[in-house]
Amino acid sequence: MIKRILQTFKNSFFPRKCQACGQFFHRQDSDTKGKESIRTLVHDPGETSFYRVMAPFLCPSCITDFYPIRSPFCTQCGSMFESKAATNHQCGNCIQNTPVCHMIRSAGTFNGALKSAIHGLKYKNKVQLARPLGRLLFLSFLSYYYDDTDKIDTIIPIPLHTSRLKQRGFNQALMLIKEWPGLFTEISSNRFAQIDFKNLVRNRKTISQTGLGKEKRKQNVKNAFAVIDASEIVEKQILIIDDVYTTGSTCHECAKTLIKNGAKTVSVLTLARAN
Ligand SMILES: [Zn+2]
Ligand SMILES: [Zn+2]
Repeated sequence: MIKRILQTFKNSFFPRKCQACGQFFHRQDSDTKGKESIRTLVHDPGETSFYRVMAPFLCPSCITDFYPIRSPFCTQCGSMFESKAATNHQCGNCIQNTPVCHMIRSAGTFNGALKSAIHGLKYKNKVQLARPLGRLLFLSFLSYYYDDTDKIDTIIPIPLHTSRLKQRGFNQALMLIKEWPGLFTEISSNRFAQIDFKNLVRNRKTISQTGLGKEKRKQNVKNAFAVIDASEIVEKQILIIDDVYTTGSTCHECAKTLIKNGAKTVSVLTLARAN
Protein backbone atom coordinates (compact mmCIF):
# COMPACT_ATOMS: atom_id res chain seq x y z
CA MET A 1 0.00 0.00 0.00
CA ILE A 2 2.71 2.48 1.09
CA LYS A 3 4.74 1.43 -1.91
CA ARG A 4 1.81 2.27 -4.20
CA ILE A 5 1.27 5.67 -2.61
CA LEU A 6 4.96 6.44 -2.97
CA GLN A 7 4.86 5.31 -6.59
CA THR A 8 1.84 7.54 -7.33
CA PHE A 9 3.65 10.41 -5.61
CA LYS A 10 6.79 9.74 -7.66
CA ASN A 11 4.79 9.50 -10.90
CA SER A 12 3.06 12.84 -10.32
CA PHE A 13 6.17 14.78 -9.35
CA PHE A 14 8.76 13.17 -11.57
CA PRO A 15 7.39 12.84 -15.04
CA ARG A 16 9.24 10.60 -17.46
CA LYS A 17 10.71 11.66 -20.75
CA CYS A 18 9.34 9.83 -23.78
CA GLN A 19 12.25 8.11 -25.53
CA ALA A 20 10.59 8.56 -28.93
CA CYS A 21 9.23 12.15 -29.07
CA GLY A 22 11.04 13.68 -26.09
CA GLN A 23 7.86 14.99 -24.37
CA PHE A 24 7.46 14.57 -20.62
CA PHE A 25 4.59 12.38 -19.49
CA HIS A 26 2.99 10.94 -16.38
CA ARG A 27 2.43 7.25 -16.14
CA GLN A 28 -1.26 6.39 -16.31
CA ASP A 29 -1.15 2.96 -14.72
CA SER A 30 0.63 1.39 -11.78
CA ASP A 31 4.32 0.93 -12.36
CA THR A 32 4.24 -2.76 -13.13
CA LYS A 33 4.44 -2.50 -16.90
CA GLY A 34 7.89 -3.26 -18.19
CA LYS A 35 8.75 -5.30 -15.11
CA GLU A 36 6.48 -8.26 -15.70
CA SER A 37 7.94 -11.72 -15.78
CA ILE A 38 8.59 -12.97 -19.29
CA ARG A 39 6.31 -15.92 -18.53
CA THR A 40 3.24 -13.64 -18.47
CA LEU A 41 4.18 -12.14 -21.82
CA VAL A 42 4.96 -15.29 -23.79
CA HIS A 43 1.59 -15.83 -25.40
CA ASP A 44 0.78 -12.18 -26.03
CA PRO A 45 0.25 -10.99 -29.58
CA GLY A 46 2.84 -8.52 -30.93
CA GLU A 47 0.95 -5.29 -30.23
CA THR A 48 0.26 -6.10 -26.59
CA SER A 49 3.87 -7.17 -26.06
CA PHE A 50 5.09 -3.85 -27.41
CA TYR A 51 2.78 -1.97 -25.07
CA ARG A 52 3.67 -4.02 -22.01
CA VAL A 53 7.42 -3.95 -22.60
CA MET A 54 7.84 -0.35 -23.81
CA ALA A 55 5.20 1.48 -21.68
CA PRO A 56 7.68 2.89 -19.12
CA PHE A 57 9.70 4.48 -21.94
CA LEU A 58 7.08 5.95 -24.25
CA CYS A 59 4.32 8.53 -23.82
CA PRO A 60 0.66 7.46 -24.28
CA SER A 61 0.69 8.75 -27.84
CA CYS A 62 3.93 7.08 -28.98
CA ILE A 63 3.09 3.75 -27.33
CA THR A 64 0.26 3.28 -29.83
CA ASP A 65 2.56 4.18 -32.74
CA PHE A 66 3.72 0.59 -33.36
CA TYR A 67 3.05 -1.56 -36.41
CA PRO A 68 3.62 -5.29 -35.95
CA ILE A 69 4.35 -7.63 -38.84
CA ARG A 70 0.95 -8.95 -39.78
CA SER A 71 -0.19 -12.05 -41.63
CA PRO A 72 -0.25 -12.85 -44.42
CA PHE A 73 3.51 -12.82 -44.97
CA CYS A 74 5.97 -14.97 -46.89
CA THR A 75 6.81 -18.10 -44.90
CA GLN A 76 10.41 -17.78 -46.03
CA CYS A 77 11.55 -14.15 -46.48
CA GLY A 78 8.87 -12.71 -44.17
CA SER A 79 7.75 -9.90 -46.50
CA MET A 80 4.13 -8.90 -45.92
CA PHE A 81 1.54 -9.38 -48.68
CA GLU A 82 -0.72 -6.50 -49.61
CA SER A 83 -3.77 -8.69 -49.98
CA LYS A 84 -5.17 -9.51 -46.55
CA ALA A 85 -7.23 -12.43 -47.80
CA ALA A 86 -4.63 -15.19 -48.02
CA THR A 87 -2.83 -17.13 -45.31
CA ASN A 88 0.97 -17.12 -44.97
CA HIS A 89 2.63 -18.67 -48.01
CA GLN A 90 5.85 -18.55 -50.01
CA CYS A 91 6.17 -15.41 -52.17
CA GLY A 92 6.88 -15.50 -55.90
CA ASN A 93 10.41 -14.25 -55.43
CA CYS A 94 11.28 -17.03 -52.96
CA ILE A 95 9.75 -19.66 -55.27
CA GLN A 96 11.81 -18.40 -58.24
CA ASN A 97 15.14 -17.82 -56.51
CA THR A 98 15.97 -20.20 -53.69
CA PRO A 99 16.79 -17.84 -50.81
CA VAL A 100 20.00 -18.17 -48.81
CA CYS A 101 18.16 -17.61 -45.54
CA HIS A 102 15.90 -20.32 -44.20
CA MET A 103 13.51 -17.89 -42.48
CA ILE A 104 13.47 -14.10 -41.96
CA ARG A 105 11.30 -12.58 -39.23
CA SER A 106 10.92 -9.23 -37.47
CA ALA A 107 8.90 -7.84 -34.57
CA GLY A 108 7.50 -4.78 -36.32
CA THR A 109 7.79 -2.45 -39.27
CA PHE A 110 10.55 0.17 -39.27
CA ASN A 111 8.53 3.29 -38.49
CA GLY A 112 6.82 5.08 -35.61
CA ALA A 113 8.00 4.53 -32.06
CA LEU A 114 10.00 1.40 -32.85
CA LYS A 115 12.12 3.33 -35.37
CA SER A 116 12.68 6.15 -32.85
CA ALA A 117 13.63 3.67 -30.12
CA ILE A 118 16.13 1.87 -32.39
CA HIS A 119 17.68 5.21 -33.42
CA GLY A 120 17.82 6.23 -29.76
CA LEU A 121 19.73 3.09 -28.85
CA LYS A 122 22.08 3.15 -31.83
CA TYR A 123 22.88 6.79 -32.37
CA LYS A 124 21.90 8.64 -29.18
CA ASN A 125 23.45 6.21 -26.76
CA LYS A 126 20.15 5.48 -24.98
CA VAL A 127 21.42 2.17 -23.66
CA GLN A 128 18.47 1.94 -21.25
CA LEU A 129 16.40 0.93 -24.31
CA ALA A 130 18.46 -2.22 -24.91
CA ARG A 131 16.63 -4.16 -22.20
CA PRO A 132 13.01 -3.50 -23.30
CA LEU A 133 13.91 -3.82 -26.99
CA GLY A 134 15.78 -7.06 -26.21
CA ARG A 135 12.68 -8.38 -24.44
CA LEU A 136 10.50 -7.41 -27.38
CA LEU A 137 12.84 -9.28 -29.70
CA PHE A 138 12.90 -12.28 -27.36
CA LEU A 139 9.09 -12.43 -27.48
CA SER A 140 9.27 -12.44 -31.28
CA PHE A 141 11.86 -15.19 -31.08
CA LEU A 142 9.45 -17.23 -28.96
CA SER A 143 6.48 -16.58 -31.18
CA TYR A 144 8.36 -17.98 -34.18
CA TYR A 145 10.50 -20.61 -32.45
CA TYR A 146 8.79 -21.48 -29.16
CA ASP A 147 7.84 -24.99 -30.27
CA ASP A 148 11.16 -25.49 -32.02
CA THR A 149 13.73 -23.80 -29.82
CA ASP A 150 15.84 -26.94 -30.30
CA LYS A 151 16.01 -26.07 -34.01
CA ILE A 152 18.37 -23.17 -33.26
CA ASP A 153 21.86 -24.26 -32.16
CA THR A 154 23.65 -20.94 -32.26
CA ILE A 155 22.61 -17.29 -32.13
CA ILE A 156 24.97 -14.80 -33.77
CA PRO A 157 24.57 -11.01 -33.54
CA ILE A 158 25.70 -9.23 -36.73
CA PRO A 159 29.25 -8.09 -35.93
CA LEU A 160 30.52 -4.53 -36.22
CA HIS A 161 33.98 -3.74 -37.52
CA THR A 162 36.37 -3.07 -34.60
CA SER A 163 36.67 0.60 -35.58
CA ARG A 164 32.86 1.06 -35.50
CA LEU A 165 32.70 -0.84 -32.22
CA LYS A 166 35.28 1.52 -30.71
CA GLN A 167 33.38 4.56 -31.98
CA ARG A 168 29.95 3.40 -30.71
CA GLY A 169 31.19 1.60 -27.62
CA PHE A 170 28.80 -1.36 -27.99
CA ASN A 171 27.30 -3.72 -30.51
CA GLN A 172 23.55 -3.05 -30.38
CA ALA A 173 22.68 -6.51 -31.76
CA LEU A 174 24.65 -8.20 -28.98
CA MET A 175 23.07 -5.94 -26.35
CA LEU A 176 19.62 -7.03 -27.51
CA ILE A 177 20.28 -10.71 -26.80
CA LYS A 178 22.46 -10.49 -23.69
CA GLU A 179 19.53 -11.19 -21.39
CA TRP A 180 18.07 -14.05 -23.45
CA PRO A 181 19.64 -17.11 -21.73
CA GLY A 182 18.32 -15.84 -18.38
CA LEU A 183 14.86 -15.11 -19.81
CA PHE A 184 14.72 -18.55 -21.37
CA THR A 185 15.30 -20.28 -18.01
CA GLU A 186 12.17 -18.49 -16.73
CA ILE A 187 10.02 -20.37 -19.20
CA SER A 188 11.79 -23.60 -20.06
CA SER A 189 14.15 -26.17 -18.60
CA ASN A 190 15.46 -27.04 -22.07
CA ARG A 191 18.99 -26.17 -23.08
CA PHE A 192 19.13 -22.76 -24.75
CA ALA A 193 21.05 -22.04 -27.93
CA GLN A 194 24.65 -20.91 -27.65
CA ILE A 195 25.27 -17.19 -28.12
CA ASP A 196 28.37 -16.73 -30.25
CA PHE A 197 29.59 -13.19 -30.76
CA LYS A 198 33.22 -13.93 -31.55
CA ASN A 199 33.30 -16.35 -34.43
CA LEU A 200 31.75 -14.24 -37.21
CA VAL A 201 33.77 -11.08 -37.84
CA ARG A 202 33.82 -8.14 -40.21
CA ASN A 203 37.17 -8.46 -41.89
CA ARG A 204 37.03 -5.12 -43.63
CA LYS A 205 35.59 -1.74 -42.88
CA THR A 206 32.40 -0.86 -44.75
CA ILE A 207 30.68 2.50 -45.00
CA SER A 208 27.24 2.93 -43.40
CA GLN A 209 24.46 1.28 -45.44
CA THR A 210 22.11 4.19 -44.63
CA GLY A 211 21.19 6.10 -47.76
CA LEU A 212 22.60 3.50 -50.18
CA GLY A 213 20.42 1.79 -52.79
CA LYS A 214 20.00 -1.99 -52.97
CA GLU A 215 22.89 -2.66 -55.41
CA LYS A 216 25.29 -0.31 -53.59
CA ARG A 217 24.44 -1.99 -50.29
CA LYS A 218 25.21 -5.39 -51.79
CA GLN A 219 28.58 -4.20 -53.11
CA ASN A 220 29.39 -2.45 -49.83
CA VAL A 221 29.17 -5.64 -47.75
CA LYS A 222 30.43 -8.11 -50.37
CA ASN A 223 33.03 -10.43 -48.78
CA ALA A 224 33.04 -8.24 -45.68
CA PHE A 225 32.56 -11.14 -43.24
CA ALA A 226 34.67 -14.11 -42.21
CA VAL A 227 34.43 -17.05 -39.84
CA ILE A 228 37.30 -17.59 -37.42
CA ASP A 229 36.66 -21.21 -36.46
CA ALA A 230 34.55 -23.13 -38.98
CA SER A 231 34.35 -26.22 -36.72
CA GLU A 232 31.94 -24.21 -34.52
CA ILE A 233 29.67 -23.58 -37.50
CA VAL A 234 29.57 -26.93 -39.30
CA GLU A 235 26.08 -28.51 -39.39
CA LYS A 236 24.74 -25.83 -37.04
CA GLN A 237 21.29 -24.23 -37.37
CA ILE A 238 22.07 -20.57 -36.90
CA LEU A 239 19.96 -17.52 -36.11
CA ILE A 240 21.40 -14.12 -37.05
CA ILE A 241 20.28 -11.10 -35.01
CA ASP A 242 20.19 -7.51 -36.21
CA ASP A 243 18.25 -4.37 -35.33
CA VAL A 244 16.81 -3.54 -38.76
CA TYR A 245 16.26 -5.57 -41.92
CA THR A 246 16.33 -3.13 -44.84
CA THR A 247 17.26 -4.71 -48.16
CA GLY A 248 18.75 -7.73 -46.39
CA SER A 249 22.22 -7.27 -47.96
CA THR A 250 24.09 -7.50 -44.65
CA CYS A 251 22.11 -10.50 -43.39
CA HIS A 252 22.45 -12.30 -46.72
CA GLU A 253 26.18 -11.71 -46.87
CA CYS A 254 26.54 -13.09 -43.32
CA ALA A 255 24.33 -16.06 -44.19
CA LYS A 256 26.40 -16.78 -47.32
CA THR A 257 29.62 -16.70 -45.29
CA LEU A 258 28.17 -19.01 -42.62
CA ILE A 259 26.82 -21.49 -45.19
CA LYS A 260 30.14 -21.48 -47.05
CA ASN A 261 31.72 -22.47 -43.75
CA GLY A 262 29.36 -25.43 -43.29
CA ALA A 263 26.27 -24.08 -41.46
CA LYS A 264 23.19 -26.25 -42.01
CA THR A 265 20.64 -23.41 -42.04
CA VAL A 266 20.74 -19.68 -41.36
CA SER A 267 17.65 -17.74 -40.24
CA VAL A 268 17.32 -14.06 -39.40
CA LEU A 269 15.47 -12.19 -36.66
CA THR A 270 15.40 -8.40 -36.40
CA LEU A 271 13.48 -5.86 -34.36
CA ALA A 272 12.21 -4.04 -37.41
CA ARG A 273 11.72 -4.55 -41.10
CA ALA A 274 11.88 -1.69 -43.56
CA ASN A 275 10.27 -3.29 -46.61
ZN1 LIG B 1 6.19 10.27 -27.15
ZN1 LIG C 1 9.53 -14.59 -49.83
